[in-house]
Amino acid sequence: MQVWKFGGTSVGKPERMHSIRNLITADSGRKIVVLSALSGTTNSLLSMGESAKSGNEEELAGKIAELRAHYDAFVKELLVSPEGLANGQQIVEKEFSFIQSVTSIRPFTLKQEKELVAQGELMSTQLFQAYLEEQGESSVLLPALEFMLIDADNEPVLSHTEEALGQMLLQHADKQLVITQGFICRNPRGEVDNLKRGGSDYTASLIGGAIRAEEIQIWTDIDGMHNNDPRIVRKTFPIRELTFEEAAELAYFGAKILHPSTITPAKLRGVPVRLKNTMEPEAFGTLIATKSSDREIKAIAAKDGITAVYIHSTRMLNAYGFLRRVFEVFEKYKTPVDMITTSEISVSVTIDNPENLEAISAELRQFADLEDHDYNQTIICIVGNFSADKEGVALKVLEAMKNIPIRMISYGGSEHNISILVDGKFKADALNALNERLFYYEDAMKGIFTAP
Ligand code: ASP
Ligand code: MG
Repeated sequence: MQVWKFGGTSVGKPERMHSIRNLITADSGRKIVVLSALSGTTNSLLSMGESAKSGNEEELAGKIAELRAHYDAFVKELLVSPEGLANGQQIVEKEFSFIQSVTSIRPFTLKQEKELVAQGELMSTQLFQAYLEEQGESSVLLPALEFMLIDADNEPVLSHTEEALGQMLLQHADKQLVITQGFICRNPRGEVDNLKRGGSDYTASLIGGAIRAEEIQIWTDIDGMHNNDPRIVRKTFPIRELTFEEAAELAYFGAKILHPSTITPAKLRGVPVRLKNTMEPEAFGTLIATKSSDREIKAIAAKDGITAVYIHSTRMLNAYGFLRRVFEVFEKYKTPVDMITTSEISVSVTIDNPENLEAISAELRQFADLEDHDYNQTIICIVGNFSADKEGVALKVLEAMKNIPIRMISYGGSEHNISILVDGKFKADALNALNERLFYYEDAMKGIFTAP
Protein backbone atom coordinates (compact mmCIF):
# COMPACT_ATOMS: atom_id res chain seq x y z
CA MET A 1 0.00 0.00 0.00
CA GLN A 2 1.19 3.54 -0.70
CA VAL A 3 0.52 6.80 1.11
CA TRP A 4 -0.07 9.84 -1.10
CA LYS A 5 -0.26 13.33 0.35
CA PHE A 6 -1.65 16.35 -1.45
CA GLY A 7 -0.95 19.87 -0.19
CA GLY A 8 -3.20 22.91 -0.06
CA THR A 9 -2.66 24.13 -3.61
CA SER A 10 -3.17 20.60 -4.96
CA VAL A 11 -6.69 20.56 -3.48
CA GLY A 12 -7.32 24.31 -3.58
CA LYS A 13 -9.58 24.39 -6.63
CA PRO A 14 -12.38 22.04 -7.68
CA GLU A 15 -10.58 21.17 -10.91
CA ARG A 16 -7.48 20.27 -8.91
CA MET A 17 -9.56 17.84 -6.86
CA HIS A 18 -10.76 16.39 -10.15
CA SER A 19 -7.18 15.83 -11.27
CA ILE A 20 -6.26 14.25 -7.95
CA ARG A 21 -9.00 11.74 -8.49
CA ASN A 22 -7.53 10.91 -11.88
CA LEU A 23 -4.07 10.55 -10.35
CA ILE A 24 -5.07 8.28 -7.49
CA THR A 25 -7.21 6.03 -9.68
CA ALA A 26 -4.73 5.80 -12.56
CA ASP A 27 -3.35 2.53 -11.24
CA SER A 28 -5.06 -0.15 -9.21
CA GLY A 29 -2.85 0.02 -6.11
CA ARG A 30 -4.59 0.57 -2.75
CA LYS A 31 -3.73 3.98 -1.35
CA ILE A 32 -4.08 6.11 1.73
CA VAL A 33 -4.65 9.67 0.57
CA VAL A 34 -3.70 12.39 3.04
CA LEU A 35 -5.05 15.86 2.35
CA SER A 36 -4.19 19.33 3.61
CA ALA A 37 -6.76 22.07 3.95
CA LEU A 38 -7.63 24.01 0.78
CA SER A 39 -4.96 26.65 0.21
CA GLY A 40 -5.59 29.77 2.28
CA THR A 41 -8.01 28.06 4.66
CA THR A 42 -5.62 27.41 7.54
CA ASN A 43 -4.46 31.04 7.50
CA SER A 44 -8.02 32.23 7.30
CA LEU A 45 -9.10 30.08 10.28
CA LEU A 46 -6.16 31.27 12.35
CA SER A 47 -7.01 34.83 11.52
CA MET A 48 -10.60 34.25 12.69
CA GLY A 49 -9.05 32.99 15.90
CA GLU A 50 -7.15 36.27 16.27
CA SER A 51 -10.35 38.26 15.88
CA ALA A 52 -12.07 36.01 18.42
CA LYS A 53 -9.20 36.47 20.88
CA SER A 54 -9.34 40.21 20.62
CA GLY A 55 -13.14 40.16 20.77
CA ASN A 56 -13.53 41.96 17.47
CA GLU A 57 -16.94 40.50 16.59
CA GLU A 58 -17.57 42.44 13.42
CA GLU A 59 -14.22 41.53 11.95
CA LEU A 60 -14.78 37.90 12.95
CA ALA A 61 -18.20 37.74 11.29
CA GLY A 62 -16.71 39.23 8.12
CA LYS A 63 -13.96 36.64 8.01
CA ILE A 64 -16.37 33.76 8.54
CA ALA A 65 -18.70 35.05 5.83
CA GLU A 66 -15.82 35.42 3.40
CA LEU A 67 -14.58 31.86 3.89
CA ARG A 68 -18.12 30.54 3.78
CA ALA A 69 -18.70 32.17 0.40
CA HIS A 70 -15.51 30.52 -0.85
CA TYR A 71 -16.72 27.07 0.21
CA ASP A 72 -20.25 27.62 -1.13
CA ALA A 73 -18.79 28.37 -4.54
CA PHE A 74 -16.30 25.51 -4.23
CA VAL A 75 -18.90 22.77 -3.70
CA LYS A 76 -21.02 24.05 -6.57
CA GLU A 77 -18.13 23.53 -8.92
CA LEU A 78 -16.83 20.34 -7.34
CA LEU A 79 -20.04 18.36 -7.22
CA VAL A 80 -22.40 18.08 -10.16
CA SER A 81 -25.16 15.60 -9.33
CA PRO A 82 -28.10 16.89 -7.23
CA GLU A 83 -27.37 14.33 -4.47
CA GLY A 84 -23.65 15.08 -4.59
CA LEU A 85 -24.25 18.82 -4.33
CA ALA A 86 -26.75 18.40 -1.50
CA ASN A 87 -24.23 16.26 0.32
CA GLY A 88 -21.47 18.86 -0.15
CA GLN A 89 -23.71 21.70 0.98
CA GLN A 90 -24.65 19.77 4.08
CA ILE A 91 -20.96 19.30 4.93
CA VAL A 92 -20.27 23.02 4.53
CA GLU A 93 -23.35 23.90 6.57
CA LYS A 94 -22.37 21.59 9.41
CA GLU A 95 -18.72 22.68 9.55
CA PHE A 96 -19.52 26.37 9.39
CA SER A 97 -22.04 26.08 12.16
CA PHE A 98 -19.21 24.52 14.19
CA ILE A 99 -16.85 27.36 13.18
CA GLN A 100 -19.53 29.82 14.24
CA SER A 101 -20.02 28.23 17.64
CA VAL A 102 -16.36 27.58 18.49
CA THR A 103 -15.36 31.15 17.60
CA SER A 104 -18.09 32.53 19.85
CA ILE A 105 -16.55 30.98 22.99
CA ARG A 106 -15.00 33.54 25.37
CA PRO A 107 -12.32 33.58 26.43
CA PHE A 108 -11.09 32.11 23.17
CA THR A 109 -8.17 29.91 24.24
CA LEU A 110 -5.57 27.75 22.55
CA LYS A 111 -7.90 24.75 22.90
CA GLN A 112 -10.54 26.50 20.81
CA GLU A 113 -7.94 27.69 18.35
CA LYS A 114 -6.83 24.12 17.73
CA GLU A 115 -10.39 22.93 17.20
CA LEU A 116 -10.95 25.81 14.82
CA VAL A 117 -7.82 25.28 12.75
CA ALA A 118 -8.61 21.55 12.41
CA GLN A 119 -11.71 22.46 10.39
CA GLY A 120 -9.54 23.08 7.33
CA GLU A 121 -8.48 19.46 6.95
CA LEU A 122 -11.85 18.19 8.17
CA MET A 123 -13.59 20.09 5.37
CA SER A 124 -11.18 19.30 2.54
CA THR A 125 -11.31 15.56 3.23
CA GLN A 126 -15.10 15.40 3.59
CA LEU A 127 -15.59 17.31 0.38
CA PHE A 128 -13.12 15.15 -1.48
CA GLN A 129 -14.77 11.99 -0.15
CA ALA A 130 -18.18 13.36 -1.23
CA TYR A 131 -16.74 13.90 -4.70
CA LEU A 132 -15.28 10.37 -4.87
CA GLU A 133 -18.62 8.94 -3.74
CA GLU A 134 -20.43 10.92 -6.39
CA GLN A 135 -18.03 9.50 -8.95
CA GLY A 136 -18.66 5.98 -7.72
CA GLU A 137 -15.12 5.34 -6.49
CA SER A 138 -14.46 2.71 -3.83
CA SER A 139 -13.29 4.95 -1.01
CA VAL A 140 -13.66 5.56 2.70
CA LEU A 141 -12.83 8.56 4.89
CA LEU A 142 -10.98 7.57 8.08
CA PRO A 143 -10.78 10.21 10.84
CA ALA A 144 -7.17 11.08 11.68
CA LEU A 145 -8.35 12.17 15.13
CA GLU A 146 -8.90 8.50 15.91
CA PHE A 147 -5.43 7.28 15.05
CA MET A 148 -3.03 10.24 15.18
CA LEU A 149 -1.81 10.97 18.70
CA ILE A 150 0.93 13.12 20.22
CA ASP A 151 2.39 12.61 23.69
CA ALA A 152 3.01 15.18 26.41
CA ASP A 153 6.19 16.32 24.61
CA ASN A 154 4.26 16.84 21.38
CA GLU A 155 5.92 13.78 19.88
CA PRO A 156 3.75 11.56 17.68
CA VAL A 157 3.02 8.12 19.11
CA LEU A 158 3.74 5.86 16.17
CA SER A 159 2.65 2.68 17.95
CA HIS A 160 -0.84 4.14 18.46
CA THR A 161 -1.18 4.89 14.75
CA GLU A 162 0.15 1.47 13.90
CA GLU A 163 -2.50 -0.24 16.02
CA ALA A 164 -5.54 1.98 15.57
CA LEU A 165 -5.09 2.64 11.86
CA GLY A 166 -4.08 -0.98 11.26
CA GLN A 167 -7.42 -2.13 12.62
CA MET A 168 -9.42 0.41 10.66
CA LEU A 169 -7.68 -0.60 7.46
CA LEU A 170 -8.64 -4.21 8.07
CA GLN A 171 -12.25 -3.23 8.72
CA HIS A 172 -12.33 -1.40 5.40
CA ALA A 173 -10.28 -3.89 3.44
CA ASP A 174 -12.81 -3.72 0.60
CA LYS A 175 -12.03 -0.04 -0.02
CA GLN A 176 -9.41 0.81 -2.58
CA LEU A 177 -8.90 4.42 -1.51
CA VAL A 178 -8.60 5.54 2.08
CA ILE A 179 -8.89 9.29 2.59
CA THR A 180 -7.69 11.02 5.76
CA GLN A 181 -6.67 14.38 7.19
CA GLY A 182 -3.11 15.62 7.39
CA PHE A 183 -1.93 17.88 10.22
CA ILE A 184 -4.52 17.09 12.90
CA CYS A 185 -4.21 14.73 15.86
CA ARG A 186 -5.21 14.35 19.49
CA ASN A 187 -3.09 15.13 22.52
CA PRO A 188 -2.86 13.10 25.76
CA ARG A 189 -5.79 15.08 27.20
CA GLY A 190 -7.94 13.81 24.34
CA GLU A 191 -8.20 17.29 22.84
CA VAL A 192 -7.89 18.16 19.18
CA ASP A 193 -4.32 19.21 18.44
CA ASN A 194 -2.02 19.42 15.44
CA LEU A 195 1.48 18.72 14.18
CA LYS A 196 2.30 22.41 13.61
CA ARG A 197 2.15 24.39 10.40
CA GLY A 198 2.94 22.36 7.32
CA GLY A 199 2.39 19.20 9.35
CA SER A 200 0.48 17.26 6.70
CA ASP A 201 3.72 15.97 5.21
CA TYR A 202 4.59 14.70 8.65
CA THR A 203 1.21 12.92 8.90
CA ALA A 204 1.90 11.17 5.61
CA SER A 205 5.29 10.03 6.77
CA LEU A 206 3.97 8.87 10.15
CA ILE A 207 1.23 6.88 8.47
CA GLY A 208 3.66 5.46 5.94
CA GLY A 209 6.03 4.45 8.72
CA ALA A 210 3.25 3.04 10.89
CA ILE A 211 1.78 0.79 8.22
CA ARG A 212 5.19 0.10 6.65
CA ALA A 213 3.96 1.44 3.34
CA GLU A 214 5.64 0.55 0.09
CA GLU A 215 6.21 4.22 -0.61
CA ILE A 216 5.15 7.67 0.58
CA GLN A 217 4.44 10.21 -2.12
CA ILE A 218 4.26 13.91 -1.33
CA TRP A 219 2.46 15.75 -4.14
CA THR A 220 3.01 19.50 -4.40
CA ASP A 221 3.14 22.05 -7.17
CA ILE A 222 6.89 21.93 -7.72
CA ASP A 223 8.89 19.27 -9.47
CA GLY A 224 10.78 17.92 -6.47
CA MET A 225 13.53 19.22 -4.25
CA HIS A 226 15.84 21.52 -6.12
CA ASN A 227 19.62 21.59 -5.88
CA ASN A 228 19.47 25.23 -4.83
CA ASP A 229 16.90 27.93 -4.05
CA PRO A 230 15.15 28.70 -7.38
CA ARG A 231 13.98 32.08 -6.07
CA ILE A 232 17.55 33.29 -5.71
CA VAL A 233 19.67 31.20 -8.00
CA ARG A 234 19.52 31.44 -11.78
CA LYS A 235 19.87 27.81 -12.82
CA THR A 236 18.54 25.04 -10.63
CA PHE A 237 17.28 21.53 -11.28
CA PRO A 238 15.31 18.91 -9.36
CA ILE A 239 17.46 16.38 -7.54
CA ARG A 240 16.53 12.85 -8.63
CA GLU A 241 17.74 10.90 -5.62
CA LEU A 242 18.60 11.81 -2.04
CA THR A 243 19.31 9.78 1.06
CA PHE A 244 17.19 10.31 4.17
CA GLU A 245 20.11 12.07 5.87
CA GLU A 246 20.62 14.46 2.99
CA ALA A 247 16.92 15.25 2.75
CA ALA A 248 16.73 15.92 6.50
CA GLU A 249 19.65 18.36 6.30
CA LEU A 250 18.03 20.15 3.37
CA ALA A 251 14.61 20.34 4.99
CA TYR A 252 16.15 21.76 8.15
CA PHE A 253 18.32 24.22 6.27
CA GLY A 254 15.53 25.88 4.44
CA ALA A 255 14.28 23.76 1.54
CA LYS A 256 10.65 24.77 2.04
CA ILE A 257 9.23 21.81 0.16
CA LEU A 258 9.33 19.45 3.16
CA HIS A 259 8.41 19.86 6.81
CA PRO A 260 11.75 19.22 8.64
CA SER A 261 10.41 16.34 10.76
CA THR A 262 8.89 14.56 7.78
CA ILE A 263 11.77 12.29 7.04
CA THR A 264 12.16 10.80 10.52
CA PRO A 265 9.37 8.17 10.60
CA ALA A 266 9.95 7.18 6.98
CA LYS A 267 13.64 6.75 7.69
CA LEU A 268 12.94 4.79 10.85
CA ARG A 269 10.99 2.22 8.90
CA GLY A 270 12.97 2.51 5.66
CA VAL A 271 9.98 3.65 3.62
CA PRO A 272 11.02 5.60 0.51
CA VAL A 273 9.57 9.10 0.10
CA ARG A 274 8.92 10.43 -3.38
CA LEU A 275 8.24 14.09 -4.06
CA LYS A 276 5.96 14.57 -7.06
CA ASN A 277 4.44 17.45 -8.97
CA THR A 278 0.65 17.45 -9.48
CA MET A 279 1.05 19.81 -12.43
CA GLU A 280 3.54 17.48 -14.11
CA PRO A 281 2.80 13.97 -12.88
CA GLU A 282 5.06 12.26 -15.44
CA ALA A 283 8.15 14.09 -14.16
CA PHE A 284 10.40 11.90 -12.02
CA GLY A 285 10.43 14.21 -8.99
CA THR A 286 12.77 13.41 -6.11
CA LEU A 287 13.18 10.02 -4.51
CA ILE A 288 14.38 9.96 -0.90
CA ALA A 289 15.56 6.56 0.31
CA THR A 290 18.23 4.77 2.31
CA LYS A 291 20.67 4.85 -0.58
CA SER A 292 21.07 7.17 -3.51
CA SER A 293 23.08 6.60 -6.60
CA ASP A 294 23.22 10.20 -7.60
CA ARG A 295 26.18 12.57 -7.74
CA GLU A 296 28.36 13.29 -4.70
CA ILE A 297 27.30 16.90 -4.17
CA LYS A 298 23.53 17.03 -4.05
CA ALA A 299 22.31 20.43 -3.08
CA ILE A 300 22.83 23.76 -1.41
CA ALA A 301 20.44 25.27 1.09
CA ALA A 302 20.46 28.38 3.24
CA LYS A 303 19.02 29.39 6.56
CA ASP A 304 18.65 33.09 7.37
CA GLY A 305 18.31 35.11 10.53
CA ILE A 306 21.22 33.42 12.27
CA THR A 307 23.15 35.01 15.15
CA ALA A 308 26.84 34.22 15.68
CA VAL A 309 28.26 34.28 19.21
CA TYR A 310 32.05 34.45 19.64
CA ILE A 311 33.36 33.20 22.98
CA HIS A 312 36.95 33.31 24.27
CA SER A 313 38.22 31.46 27.29
CA THR A 314 39.66 33.83 29.87
CA ARG A 315 41.88 31.06 31.27
CA MET A 316 43.72 30.58 28.01
CA LEU A 317 45.49 27.39 27.05
CA ASN A 318 44.53 23.89 28.10
CA ALA A 319 41.34 24.97 29.74
CA TYR A 320 39.40 21.76 29.97
CA GLY A 321 35.73 21.89 30.88
CA PHE A 322 35.38 25.16 29.00
CA LEU A 323 33.17 23.79 26.23
CA ARG A 324 31.00 21.98 28.74
CA ARG A 325 30.38 25.21 30.62
CA VAL A 326 29.59 27.03 27.41
CA PHE A 327 27.05 24.46 26.29
CA GLU A 328 25.46 24.22 29.70
CA VAL A 329 24.48 27.85 29.36
CA PHE A 330 22.78 27.26 26.00
CA GLU A 331 21.10 24.17 27.39
CA LYS A 332 19.81 26.06 30.39
CA TYR A 333 18.04 28.49 28.06
CA LYS A 334 16.80 25.70 25.74
CA THR A 335 18.56 27.36 22.84
CA PRO A 336 19.78 24.95 20.18
CA VAL A 337 23.20 25.60 18.70
CA ASP A 338 23.42 25.02 14.93
CA MET A 339 27.06 25.50 14.00
CA ILE A 340 30.20 25.31 16.11
CA THR A 341 33.83 26.05 15.34
CA THR A 342 36.61 25.98 17.89
CA SER A 343 40.22 26.93 18.37
CA GLU A 344 42.31 26.19 21.43
CA ILE A 345 40.99 29.16 23.36
CA SER A 346 37.87 30.21 21.52
CA VAL A 347 34.59 28.81 20.37
CA SER A 348 32.11 30.34 17.94
CA VAL A 349 28.56 29.12 17.77
CA THR A 350 25.44 30.09 15.89
CA ILE A 351 21.88 30.11 17.12
CA ASP A 352 18.70 30.78 15.22
CA ASN A 353 16.56 31.72 18.19
CA PRO A 354 18.00 34.84 19.85
CA GLU A 355 15.15 35.12 22.37
CA ASN A 356 17.36 34.46 25.41
CA LEU A 357 20.56 35.87 24.00
CA GLU A 358 20.94 38.59 26.61
CA ALA A 359 20.65 36.19 29.51
CA ILE A 360 22.94 33.71 27.77
CA SER A 361 25.55 36.42 27.16
CA ALA A 362 25.43 37.55 30.77
CA GLU A 363 26.08 34.02 32.01
CA LEU A 364 28.84 33.39 29.50
CA ARG A 365 30.58 36.60 30.58
CA GLN A 366 31.01 35.13 34.05
CA PHE A 367 33.75 32.87 32.72
CA ALA A 368 34.53 34.03 29.18
CA ASP A 369 35.06 37.09 27.04
CA LEU A 370 32.53 37.76 24.33
CA GLU A 371 33.05 39.61 21.12
CA ASP A 372 30.12 41.52 19.65
CA HIS A 373 27.54 39.17 18.24
CA ASP A 374 26.93 39.15 14.50
CA TYR A 375 23.26 39.33 13.61
CA ASN A 376 21.52 38.60 10.30
CA GLN A 377 23.94 35.91 9.30
CA THR A 378 23.12 33.10 6.90
CA ILE A 379 24.19 29.48 7.18
CA ILE A 380 24.82 27.98 3.79
CA CYS A 381 24.84 24.27 3.81
CA ILE A 382 26.28 22.08 1.08
CA VAL A 383 24.69 18.66 1.25
CA GLY A 384 25.77 15.40 -0.29
CA ASN A 385 27.58 12.20 0.36
CA PHE A 386 31.14 13.16 1.20
CA SER A 387 32.17 9.91 2.87
CA ALA A 388 34.75 9.18 0.21
CA ASP A 389 35.15 12.79 -0.86
CA LYS A 390 36.65 11.85 -4.17
CA GLU A 391 35.84 15.20 -5.66
CA GLY A 392 37.66 17.50 -3.25
CA VAL A 393 34.43 19.14 -2.16
CA ALA A 394 36.00 21.47 0.39
CA LEU A 395 38.40 22.87 -2.18
CA LYS A 396 35.59 23.57 -4.60
CA VAL A 397 33.54 25.26 -1.91
CA LEU A 398 36.44 27.51 -0.96
CA GLU A 399 37.19 28.29 -4.60
CA ALA A 400 33.58 29.32 -5.13
CA MET A 401 33.72 31.53 -2.05
CA LYS A 402 36.98 33.26 -2.96
CA ASN A 403 35.41 36.73 -3.19
CA ILE A 404 32.96 36.36 -0.33
CA PRO A 405 33.97 36.79 3.33
CA ILE A 406 33.38 33.61 5.34
CA ARG A 407 32.66 34.00 9.07
CA MET A 408 32.69 30.34 10.01
CA ILE A 409 33.16 27.03 8.27
CA SER A 410 32.31 23.59 9.52
CA TYR A 411 33.23 20.34 7.80
CA GLY A 412 33.32 16.82 9.16
CA GLY A 413 30.44 17.04 11.61
CA SER A 414 28.67 14.57 9.38
CA GLU A 415 29.53 13.03 6.06
CA HIS A 416 26.64 14.85 4.50
CA ASN A 417 27.21 18.47 5.21
CA ILE A 418 29.61 21.37 4.87
CA SER A 419 28.29 24.52 6.49
CA ILE A 420 29.54 28.02 6.04
CA LEU A 421 28.39 31.18 7.74
CA VAL A 422 28.25 34.44 5.81
CA ASP A 423 26.73 37.81 6.43
CA GLY A 424 23.13 37.71 5.12
CA LYS A 425 23.93 40.40 2.56
CA PHE A 426 26.22 37.94 0.73
CA LYS A 427 23.70 35.14 0.61
CA ALA A 428 22.59 35.52 -3.00
CA ASP A 429 26.18 35.94 -4.24
CA ALA A 430 27.33 32.93 -2.28
CA LEU A 431 24.48 30.69 -3.45
CA ASN A 432 25.05 31.64 -7.07
CA ALA A 433 28.83 31.25 -6.88
CA LEU A 434 28.53 27.85 -5.21
CA ASN A 435 25.92 26.77 -7.71
CA GLU A 436 28.15 27.59 -10.67
CA ARG A 437 31.22 25.98 -9.17
CA LEU A 438 29.64 22.85 -7.72
CA PHE A 439 27.13 21.99 -10.44
CA TYR A 440 28.11 23.61 -13.73
CA TYR A 441 31.84 24.34 -13.73
CA GLU A 442 33.17 20.89 -14.73
CA ASP A 443 30.77 20.60 -17.61
CA ALA A 444 31.55 24.11 -18.76
CA MET A 445 35.27 23.26 -18.67
CA LYS A 446 34.62 20.28 -20.87
CA GLY A 447 32.75 22.53 -23.26
CA ILE A 448 29.50 20.70 -22.77
CA PHE A 449 26.43 21.83 -21.00
CA THR A 450 24.09 19.31 -19.50
CA ALA A 451 21.82 19.94 -16.59
CA PRO A 452 23.12 17.27 -14.18
N1 ASP B 1 -3.06 23.00 6.66
C1 ASP B 1 -1.89 23.01 7.48
C2 ASP B 1 -1.07 24.24 7.20
O1 ASP B 1 -1.42 25.03 6.34
C3 ASP B 1 -1.08 21.78 7.37
C4 ASP B 1 -0.48 21.54 6.02
O2 ASP B 1 -1.00 22.04 5.02
O3 ASP B 1 0.52 20.83 5.92
O4 ASP B 1 -0.09 24.45 7.84
MG1 MG C 1 2.98 22.04 2.95
